[in-house]
Amino acid sequence: MQHHSKPAPDVPKWSALLVEAVNKPGLIMEAYSAFHNYSIGNQILAIVQCQLRGLEPGPINTFPGWQTLGRTVKRGERALILCMPISRKVRDEQGSSGGESEGENGERRFTSFMHKARWFAISQTVGDEFTPPRLPEWEAERALAALDIEQIAFTATDGNCQGYAKKRQIAINPVAQLPHKTLFHETAHVILGHTAEADFTDTERTPKNLREVEAEAVALLCCEALNLEGADYCRGYIQNWLCPAVGYNGDAIPEKSAQKIFRAADQILRAGRLQASENETEH
Ligand SMILES: [Zn+2]
Repeated sequence: MQHHSKPAPDVPKWSALLVEAVNKPGLIMEAYSAFHNYSIGNQILAIVQCQLRGLEPGPINTFPGWQTLGRTVKRGERALILCMPISRKVRDEQGSSGGESEGENGERRFTSFMHKARWFAISQTVGDEFTPPRLPEWEAERALAALDIEQIAFTATDGNCQGYAKKRQIAINPVAQLPHKTLFHETAHVILGHTAEADFTDTERTPKNLREVEAEAVALLCCEALNLEGADYCRGYIQNWLCPAVGYNGDAIPEKSAQKIFRAADQILRAGRLQASENETEH
């Protein structure tokens, strides 16, 4: 019996990576600009390893990937570890939980996640000149359309209300203090499935509960990745949630929530990009 999405012992948990991102301003932005072709969880995983090993954060690729670009991995270099989805067909008798979907002729497609050591930073390679791809532009309108979320007119009369979300609709106060942050926060409520259960109205003072932490953490990741105002505010709120109870050990954010947060931020960032660049496949 295999455990899914359980990191290898030497790979940090998602919650630990999230705490790292929360406590180190600029980390996500650096990770996003270097590794935007990868999921945001992997971006932080990659940057943390680069820092630990003293590698310059920059383009990463697999051994054969660098070869096709005319570069060779230097002798003795150790590969970076990323988390990869592995899709395979499974016979039906294996009673399995999560991630499966019905395929053709009774077979099930099963997606699990595994940590694999097969990426190298450009500084671990030598060879032809390589120009990293430009950071793609991001647009809110494009993101909302791709995510099937409708932005509706703001009609709340409470002046403190910054925005709200219901079902697949969001509204942002035209005079919201941090409009992008609020847009990410409300979008996150929708993507995280919160609005399937209730409507959310957000004032300047976000109440303390796990759903708000999840939405606010998604807003933090998006604001920082795109270098938009609001990250400091999110950071303060999340640190407040993490700090007094347990210290910064990450246990205040359940692993499951951390995974959801990374996935939602990733969806929002990818959905708003001019050119969809999907590099995360098994090779
Ligand atoms: Zn909220």
